[in-house]
Order: sequence, then structure tokens, then C-alpha cells
Amino acid sequence: MRRRIGRSYHPQAAPPVGIAAWLTIIALLAASHSSGAQGGWIDAYRDTASRLISESTGSRFAWERLALLSDTYGPRLSGSQNLADAIEWAVAEMRNDGLEHVRKEPVKVPHWVRGRESAEIVSPRPHAMVMLGLGNSVGTPPEGVEAEVLVVRSFEELDAASARARGRIVVFNAPFTQYGQTVQYRSAGPSRAAALGAVAVLVRSIGPPGLRTPHTGALRYTADQPRIPAAAITVEDAERLQRMQDRGTTVRVRLRMEAKFLPDADSYNVIGEIRGRERPDEVVVVGGHFDSWDVGTGATDDGGGCIVTWEALRLMRKLNLRPRRTVRVVLWTNEENGLRGGLAYRDRHRSQLANHLLMLESDSGVFRPTGFGFSGTDTARATITQIASLLQSLGVDRIGPNGGGADIGPSVEAGSIPAMSLEVDGDYFLIHHTPADTVDKIDPADMARASAAIAVIGYVVADMPERLR
Ligand SMILES: [Zn+2]
Repeated sequence: MRRRIGRSYHPQAAPPVGIAAWLTIIALLAASHSSGAQGGWIDAYRDTASRLISESTGSRFAWERLALLSDTYGPRLSGSQNLADAIEWAVAEMRNDGLEHVRKEPVKVPHWVRGRESAEIVSPRPHAMVMLGLGNSVGTPPEGVEAEVLVVRSFEELDAASARARGRIVVFNAPFTQYGQTVQYRSAGPSRAAALGAVAVLVRSIGPPGLRTPHTGALRYTADQPRIPAAAITVEDAERLQRMQDRGTTVRVRLRMEAKFLPDADSYNVIGEIRGRERPDEVVVVGGHFDSWDVGTGATDDGGGCIVTWEALRLMRKLNLRPRRTVRVVLWTNEENGLRGGLAYRDRHRSQLANHLLMLESDSGVFRPTGFGFSGTDTARATITQIASLLQSLGVDRIGPNGGGADIGPSVEAGSIPAMSLEVDGDYFLIHHTPADTVDKIDPADMARASAAIAVIGYVVADMPERLR
């Protein structure tokens, strides 16, 4: 509003006019004030938003920081030295950035290690397959598990073939549709097959066809079934096994895995803040998960999400912005194979959740950002939609349904907190949980746009006169 008056109606800028014209100007000013009841407050943030946007889009800082993180520490599985060292680095870097109240909150995390592993067709002729053991899987005996395979495309096919599953290695060759739908073969497949007497499971990688790239990820054993070893194979190898079975060939496979759990390890959620100038106990939280799978470098899942949310605070600090309320970045630990970081945050901050105004997670990769998912009241959605109008120049102004994230989920649910997630257009499921999850797939300009958008949302929600409800 200030800018519009300055450009069009400021008396000093106006040409000499008569009384009738002045009356018109006064009427226009009155109209613009009364419309301020709905939209005027947001205009006060236009200038700050464009400063945040130009600071971010004018640099490659976020991408360079992600490249440094992923090149230096690589993959960051819970319990690994890589994760422990990366956490110390993040704490030191947040302090260098001038963030406040930087700290580590302790979390005990599961410590699963992959060890050596292999899968090969042993007959009719020997062929090595490309594989990755599924996270949290048990290992095999040292000599491996060798058995005839039973290939199925779905749980229905497995049930129809249930009499033939005993003693077999069941191969789930389910084509990828949507992640939430197809991932059940990875998470629930091993126990479903074990219930029918299978000795091991191979899962076609959960992702669109790639270049013979296996995808790891967590399985979930049910308590009432034997725990059998399970691994992901590539789309190519799953289709090969399917074709051989369809031709009536008897195929035997040997799976070897050293996978095992070590005792729970010490880890931490990393937290940094810009303390609010008026109501520091009211908090806007942004963040991602700092742990990753043990292959690739966890650049997309979820190093990028960590860096762009952290970057939102660095940008505010750089521009000396101190909102009314606190903005907090949280780098959660152990999302991938336990979610212990998200659960620990909820438990430790339970008494403060009522003062969490908004939680925003970025964990869908940082490709071309298009907007945010939002879950919350209609009033809060209307406010967030207004704030997002400040992001039109970035093309990140779409506010869709279903905001949230794995790490913020426990707190959001316990505290009925409005939740947001960064939405992007990109090949997330092509590379996540694979050796190909590396920083070269990520565009510095996309990271800059995402950082700016999160900074604007975080800053305005933390600073606006009315609390988000
Ligand atoms: Zn993730």
C-alpha cells in the first residue's frame, strides 16, 4: 500500500489540481484504506519479500552449501560416523551464519548396517544382479539363501499362488504407479511372503524405470511372522526374472546379506533460530531430515530440504530481519529408518506445541519449486494464500492441499498445527534412495527460488500482526 500511494497519489508528486480532483483523490485514498481490512496488511511485506527474493536468487549459496555437505560427508545413515560428523558441521555453520540458540537435542537412533551383499541367478546360468538390501532387513547366513523364485506382480497374484510360495524366494515385480501405492510391496511385502513360508524376498525397486538402478528403503516386519531377508533389485532384473518364469524356466537365485542391527546410537536434531523481537515463545518451524540412506549422498533426500529451510533463516539474518515471533530451523535425524527425530521433537516440545504457529517441511526434493501443500483451517489457508501472492515472480505461489511431512507429522498431529510442504516438479522418485542421489541433479536456481519462497512464508507468518489461526 505504501508503495502504491507513493507512485500514484502522493500529494507532492501530483500535478496542480482543483478541489473536485482533490475530493476524488481523498475518496480513492479512503477506498484503499478500507480495502486494507482484507488485503492491505500484506502490502506492508512487499518490499521485504522482494529483498529476500533478490538476495537469494542473486547467489548460489544454498547449492554450494549442499554440494559441500554432500561431497564432504556423503551419505548419512542413522548411527554412522558420517551423520555424526555432518551434525557437528551443521552446528558450527549455523553459528557462523549468526543464527541464535543453536543447539543439538539428543535422540537415540537405530543403527542398522548393510555390510556386504549380493544377489545372483545361479541357474539355469549364473548372472549377477544389481541389488540393495532393504533397510532394517535381517541378514542371511554366511553362505546365503538359495531357492527357486516365485515372481508375482501383486499381492493378489501372491495370494493366488500361495501354495507355491513355501521355500521360495518371492519376487514382487509390481510396476511403479504412485509412491504411496507401490511402496507397500517394499514395506509390507517381506512379512506377507514370510506368512506363506517364503525364505527371502526381492522387490522391484520402488520408482519409475531408471538405468538399472536399485532403490533401497525401509521394510516393516510384522511381529507375528518370521523375519526373512529382503532386498531391492532393478526394474530390468525384475522384468528378466518375470520373462524367464513366464517362459516356464525354473530360476534359482542366491541372496547373501550381512545386514544387521548394532545397539542404538546417539544422534541429535539440530536446531537454530532467529529469536522473535516481541513474542519469542511463539514459533514458526521449518526444516528437513538430515539423515539419509547409506547410498548416494543424500543430496535430494533430504540434504536439499535441510539446506533450503536453513537458508531461509540465513537470508533473514543477512538482511537483519527480526520478526515479531521466532523462526526456527530443525534438521531432524533418523527419518529414513525410524522417525525417531520427529518423535523426539514432539515429546521434548510437547508443552510448547500450542505456540507452534506453523510447521513447514521440505522432503520432496528441491527441483523446480511450484508452491506449497497446506493443511490447516480455512482462515489460515486464506492467509497463507495471500502471503504466497508475494511469490508470483518466483512461480512458487500455488497453495495446494495436503501439507505436511514425516518429521513434522507427530508434532502437527499432537498440536493440531497448520502444516506446509514445499512442492516441486522433478524426478524425485527416479533417484531417491539410490546411488544416483547426488547434487549434480539439482539446479542452483531451483534451490535459490525454494529458499526465497520459504524465507518469505516463514518471515511473514512470524511477523504479521495477527497470529496465524
Ligand atoms: Zn526424505
